[in-house]
Amino acid sequence: MRRNSHPKAVNALLIVDVQYDFIDGSLALKNCPSQHQGEQVIPMINKLLKDIHFDVVVYTQDWHTHDHISFFDNLHLRAHLLAKDSKQAHELNVFDTAIFLLDDPRPLRVEQILWPAHCIQHTHGAELHKDLNIIKPTKTRKIINLLKGYDSNIDSYSAFWDNMKIRETELHSKLKAHNVSQVFIVGIATDVCVYFTALHALENGYKTYLIQDACRGVDETNINLRLDELKGRHCSVIQTADVKDLI
Ligand SMILES: [Zn+2]
Repeated sequence: MRRNSHPKAVNALLIVDVQYDFIDGSLALKNCPSQHQGEQVIPMINKLLKDIHFDVVVYTQDWHTHDHISFFDNLHLRAHLLAKDSKQAHELNVFDTAIFLLDDPRPLRVEQILWPAHCIQHTHGAELHKDLNIIKPTKTRKIINLLKGYDSNIDSYSAFWDNMKIRETELHSKLKAHNVSQVFIVGIATDVCVYFTALHALENGYKTYLIQDACRGVDETNINLRLDELKGRHCSVIQTADVKDLI
């Protein structure tokens, strides 16, 4: 047995949303307050895939319909559904939060950040970046491809749940089927989809590691708040160099 090893741990790498639109497309991090370079996660993730044997590797993709609620440009489709205490259509700008009252079929109060249109199904912007290593399954390594955010009316930042926690994705059941006990999370964006994925991984009982130097985010202040919150919930925020001692 190797020193520092966890002999019974089954390890999954969750690679969140390494898609063109977040790197050099319509919602590129370099145009967000952080001005992060999203492509910088790619060599870090590729090195992890090369150096570390993960039992399960998950690639997630934001995968929106044209009429998705999260797009500022679609606000006119649901302007009549804005709550009375929401900013109204003429007051709302991109990156603002709107509050919609939907029927799903029961009444739902949906708070939604209005993003630039991004990751529309079957477009280039929704593809995984070509430089990201897409590895093949082997006898000892499962691959899971997970699409999220395809409900027009409810966004899905997390890879486990939609934003209203109404519908669970298949991720938890698939990880359980492979007896995964530890998840390592990398990708985009630290303070949005990575954060919510880590939060729900913790809730689902996985030993959860967020690999900070293999993530990039939207806003530095939010990133720090989110990381502090995760640490408070016993998520381990680590660096890529730390991973080999944890597997
Ligand atoms: Zn999205």
